[in-house]
Amino acid sequence: MSAQKTLFDKVWDSHVVHNIENGPQVLFIDRHLVHEVTSPVAFLGLKNRGADVLYPKRTFATADHNTPTINQHLPVEDPLSANQLRALEQNAKEHGISHWGLGHEKNGIVHVVGPEYGITQPGATIVCGDSHTSTHGAFGAIAFGIGTSEVEMVLATQCIMQPKPKKMRINITGTLNFGVTPKDVALYIISKLTTSGATGYFVEYAGDVFEDMSMEGRMTVCNLSIEMGARGGMIAPDKKTFEYIKGREFTPTGTAWDKAMAYWKTLKTDEGATFDKELSFNASDIEPMITYGTNPGMGMGISKSIPNADQVEGGKATYEKSLGYMAFNQGEDMIGKPIDFVFIGSCTNGRIEDFRAFASIVKGRQKATNVTAWLVPGSHKVESAIKEEGLLDIFTEAGFELREPGCSACLAMNDDKVPAGKYAVSTSNRNFEGRQGPGSRTLLASPLVAAAAAVTGKVTDPRELMEATVN
Ligand code: SF4
Repeated sequence: MSAQKTLFDKVWDSHVVHNIENGPQVLFIDRHLVHEVTSPVAFLGLKNRGADVLYPKRTFATADHNTPTINQHLPVEDPLSANQLRALEQNAKEHGISHWGLGHEKNGIVHVVGPEYGITQPGATIVCGDSHTSTHGAFGAIAFGIGTSEVEMVLATQCIMQPKPKKMRINITGTLNFGVTPKDVALYIISKLTTSGATGYFVEYAGDVFEDMSMEGRMTVCNLSIEMGARGGMIAPDKKTFEYIKGREFTPTGTAWDKAMAYWKTLKTDEGATFDKELSFNASDIEPMITYGTNPGMGMGISKSIPNADQVEGGKATYEKSLGYMAFNQGEDMIGKPIDFVFIGSCTNGRIEDFRAFASIVKGRQKATNVTAWLVPGSHKVESAIKEEGLLDIFTEAGFELREPGCSACLAMNDDKVPAGKYAVSTSNRNFEGRQGPGSRTLLASPLVAAAAAVTGKVTDPRELMEATVN
């Protein structure tokens, strides 16, 4: 066997505490993030076993899925949401876990606050009962979503049983075109691989495009890894990563920082290390993307027309059913299609860089009268930055309102639901049937595409509204 190791191997192998013969491996988990949806049953299971949380200091709780995004100072009206939020608070208190509940200054979406406070670190293993835990891979961590019974397992043992995934490397070289964002890069990859193209793999992203990308952009890309079936995605930590995490609340300091840095600098794939699969794309082939169907793989360059069934992989009947749900036809252009809602937010695109991009287009323009827009920061920290940087003034002058942090319209688990039959251009991560509300129709896109739709009331190529100097 080759002595050269991939980044993934280095992090995975250093966390194996037990090998089960002909079975999975037992991994130590450095950080466990919990929220109100998948944790109540897990805590109940723990109680029924008479077990306790093994490492409360490695466990962090925040409320996000069920939280309202207006009037957070008032009692939560929805009884189910209120119960879930109360259960999280009580369980956290009982087990000595830090809890950033509704109204807490550090509250926000679990995958936004983890990096913001330095909980997310290179070389760590991180799990959470949410599929988009893959976000944290942007820091060179192995991060993946787990189910409720696994949440219980990690609470009790700080370990998890997992078969080791295969390894895939996706290289993208060159320079991104004008108006192309990390979200477009991710949607492009998924459109090429389909939603099952990376099933069974853990992906490393490599090449100039990812090296040049901001940490926030890397988080967007890793976040969407799950949408092509991958267990997770990761990017080797570099100077940009270290600068991002330095000085954050949970980041090591002093000699512990020096020791950590000495290790973190080794976290890169060795020259000559091999992958089970390797794919390469050119940055110049990517344009702003938009989805037209009911899975994230049904995406295309915004200037293209909806493919015919014989141009795509998968069954014709399923493809036609998907287009039927969206009320779109094969061969149609997406540009010019009227829309009803715009959502900027979620753990995919709810960070300050996303709101800056949105502001760059809506500045000096007005919200289209036919559009309901939800601008939802991923955390209070993002909300504060929006205000401090003057973006809120830009939004207000353009006729937009800023809401309070939460998962919001990423999924129909709170009050922000898109009504049946309505179209939403959304910066979130899933466009499944009913994901944003029963009968809702979701078009996934970048913050730039969302902004262009918000001011024109229809699907619009953002490049037409951008200054040529902005990229
Ligand atoms: S924004 Fe969506 S994907 Fe992200 S944590 Fe919330 S529900 Fe999950």
